[in-house]
Amino acid sequence: MSEWIDSPSDPDHSKREREKAKALRKSVWWQQQRQAGVCHYCKKKVASEDITMDHIVPVARGGTSTKGNIVPACQTCNTQKKTAIPAEQILRSLEQDDPTLFQDEEPSDGYELGEDQGSGFNSLFIAQPHGFCTGVARAIHMAEKTLEQKSGNETIFCLNEIVHNQHVVTRLTSMGLHFVKCVEDVPEGAKLLFSAHGVSPKVRQEAASRNLTVIDATCPFVAKVHDEVKRFASTGIAIVCIGHRNHEEVIGVVGEAPERVHVVENAEEVGRLDLPLDRPIAVVTQTTLGESQVAEVMAALRSRYTQLVSPPHTDICYATRDRQRAVKDLAHHCACVIVLGSANSSNSQRLVETAQAAGSEAVLVSDLSELLHTDWSPYHSLGVTSGASTPEDFLEQAVRYLEQQGFSLV
Ligand code: SF4
Repeated sequence: MSEWIDSPSDPDHSKREREKAKALRKSVWWQQQRQAGVCHYCKKKVASEDITMDHIVPVARGGTSTKGNIVPACQTCNTQKKTAIPAEQILRSLEQDDPTLFQDEEPSDGYELGEDQGSGFNSLFIAQPHGFCTGVARAIHMAEKTLEQKSGNETIFCLNEIVHNQHVVTRLTSMGLHFVKCVEDVPEGAKLLFSAHGVSPKVRQEAASRNLTVIDATCPFVAKVHDEVKRFASTGIAIVCIGHRNHEEVIGVVGEAPERVHVVENAEEVGRLDLPLDRPIAVVTQTTLGESQVAEVMAALRSRYTQLVSPPHTDICYATRDRQRAVKDLAHHCACVIVLGSANSSNSQRLVETAQAAGSEAVLVSDLSELLHTDWSPYHSLGVTSGASTPEDFLEQAVRYLEQQGFSLV
């Protein structure tokens, strides 16, 4: 417990403790909104099965604010397509209505969130947002629709995992989707899905030369990076791509202009780049990286190259960014954060790193059996989140199990 609590001898200790307490109250408020099932717009109570905090339930989708926060919405308000209000704005208006709601409280001597929460019960927090992003939900929806519409004994193929999650892949396999590693494994004239991670132009040409019908589930945020690379390459300048060179997304992006794109995975690799110092260099980013990881590499690039050309924001997508910010918040008041996701899921791995960097322990759990074989009793407070490709039912199973182990959802 002690490792995540600031030392009381630190002059900023009290301030940080108050900030932690405030963050905790906000988190609790969000949890209560979800559990209360109150529509954010009309403020009416809605049956829990007709309300959601995420994008993917078609009955009643939550709106997305400009910051990507999710609010609960009932079916009526959702179908009227009301514009969601940013979470921070809601919190501000609530504070105006009731100034005491999130008021800073002077913590008593030795006040420790973990011990406070743990004195009567063990607390369990769920990060919001978590789980499926729109790109993943869209790709899975496209796969399901294609399978539904297939004729007779037709086989539908998918190049690589549609998203990096074993539960999703297993379910779609059981529904008849056939995963392959290369286009040559697909019979001429068949239907082939491209995954959410996108593919290079070379792969598209191979599919065309085999006369395949392509269903392209590339996430629009990934497609945007492809477009950036094409645009920069057409001007003749060198491009640095910050990302993991063996990740399918980066392989596809590099494939847009292999002779111009140079991949760097970390700040150290910037020093090994062999590019002219006095010429413009464009920068693009893998969509699922950690914000701090990209900031470090950008700093190294700026210190070496004076003529960097990059979009105003990094290419880290809103879903990755919001899930990282939520897990950082969670890590401030949880002794350990459990990230549900597969080992090859980049955004899940980044969630683990983000929680650890924020000061809590963090583990990646890809299967319920891993949860069952761990002793969680030493922890007074646990946080749970899930990667952008992790199905919600996995999180629900994990939460049910932890509740059986004596943790109470806050
Ligand atoms: S994590 Fe981001 S880039 Fe990847 S599928 Fe989701 S929205 Fe698209």
